[in-house]
Amino acid sequence: MNKLNTFKKQLLKWSKNNTREYSWRDSNDPWKILLIEVIAQQTQLNRAHSYYEKFIKRFPTPKEMSIASKKEILSLWSGLGYNNRALRLHESSKILTKKSFNSIYPNFDILPGVGKYTKNALLSFAYKEKVITQDTNVIRIFSRFFGIENPDNFIQENQKNILKNIQSRKFNEALMDFGSTICKAKNPLCSECIFDNNCEKFFQETKHTQPTFKGSNREIRGKVIKYLINNENIDITSLNHILKVEEDKLNLILEKLEDEGMINIKKKLIEISS
Ligand code: SF4
Repeated sequence: MNKLNTFKKQLLKWSKNNTREYSWRDSNDPWKILLIEVIAQQTQLNRAHSYYEKFIKRFPTPKEMSIASKKEILSLWSGLGYNNRALRLHESSKILTKKSFNSIYPNFDILPGVGKYTKNALLSFAYKEKVITQDTNVIRIFSRFFGIENPDNFIQENQKNILKNIQSRKFNEALMDFGSTICKAKNPLCSECIFDNNCEKFFQETKHTQPTFKGSNREIRGKVIKYLINNENIDITSLNHILKVEEDKLNLILEKLEDEGMINIKKKLIEISS
């Protein structure tokens, strides 16, 4: 058996007893898939799941979200961070009330915030297409196991072969679960791994370190939105007083939030955009 087949068979065998159960995994509704994939970006899956449950209950179809206010969506999103993702989801829901998923198939990347990974997740989970959902977990596993620095081309070239006679969804979910529980970014559990003897164990130094959150623009942006979710509006001076941020810095952040359509500033009064 060649290395590719060993990898495929052993991973699928492992997944039989180790697949995590989530409600959206039983569904091929593209709206549910889109919701969980956007929520789960940069978020641990169990945490994403609790947000997904809130969102799907309130917005069972794109229509309900399309007519909701930004304030309500941001309020439900509160705690996840990267609020722009919520706004892009809102924009997508408006498009999807006019055009169905089927009518834009397979070009899901026309939806705001939908990149290659989410598009492939929709194709695999909702449309049973033979594609591998390539995120950082998947790239890491392939790189370590096969000993390849940039396995993107390798995955592309072997995708058809790997997914022959199997459901792409099962394989993608197995990769996702394996990457977050065994072949983790930090401290992979090689001694407990099914691949221990076959794996090249090609470890690369992490090139990117996460920028410090405390005091960052991202933290201040989050605080501004959190304040506005819980209050009607506020003038810039009072907000500055509460957040204790340099005036120029706060002004630039507010300008950017306004450009992104997150807030309105009228006569120095700030509020969440309608
Ligand atoms: S042996 Fe280690 S590096 Fe290789 S797949 Fe398993 S956990 Fe990852």
